[in-house]
Amino acid sequence: MTVGVASAWMACGAATAPTKPTAPTSPPASAFLTDTVQSATGAVADVRELLGHVDPATHPDFVAIPTAWCAREGLMLRTEACSTFVAMAEAAALEGIRLEALSATRTFAHQRSIWERKWSRPRYMGWEGVDIARDILTYSSMPGSSRHHWGTDLDLHSLESDDFTHGEGQRVVAWLRANAEGFGFVEVYTEDPARTGYLPEPWHWSYMPLAEAFLAQLEEARARNELPAFAGFSGAELADSLGIFDAYMRGIHRP
Ligand SMILES: [Zn+2]
Repeated sequence: MTVGVASAWMACGAATAPTKPTAPTSPPASAFLTDTVQSATGAVADVRELLGHVDPATHPDFVAIPTAWCAREGLMLRTEACSTFVAMAEAAALEGIRLEALSATRTFAHQRSIWERKWSRPRYMGWEGVDIARDILTYSSMPGSSRHHWGTDLDLHSLESDDFTHGEGQRVVAWLRANAEGFGFVEVYTEDPARTGYLPEPWHWSYMPLAEAFLAQLEEARARNELPAFAGFSGAELADSLGIFDAYMRGIHRP
């Protein structure tokens, strides 16, 4: 599981390589499942960044995923998540499995463009706002609530559930389910019946050593009433009644 670790660090932005790289190999599961989780690097982010108000292209904690592992250029992650993803992708490649990133960090503005494009679908003509929001929330997050804001989460291989039931997609997800947790990546939107929120997303993988710390940070900010209200997009006023924080943001599977 140590394949490519050194090259991974260089691949993920040598110019901004951290001084204390953390071996991205097999953290014990408990390392990212405690209530008081700290990332291996002790990462703490600005809460506004976690709500998507961040420019990963200029932020020192973000790097571009090497194009070899992307469907398109310019996909970015936080450095630790990126280097670990590259190590995982290299390990998968040795077994003939290609882990290709389709989407990684998305800003509030990017998520808002996705949300508004869906909100204005012709088929929603005449619908109540709450029904439009619920329908979009089948798979897409309200701006400000997406784990993609955090720089820890990736969509891999395909955005169609059916693609993971046969052929290459089935092999990809089987490999991930067998191996990703050893790298700290977890399938958060599973079929787990105890889970609320989005439908299952076999393509969405989250780097938990950072993501759990960031979710805990948001929960603490919320407990202190320091989390700003959702605003700036269609249906934002529905966020609380729809349970965006409790049902969706906290509606994740943990192994
Ligand atoms: Zn996703």
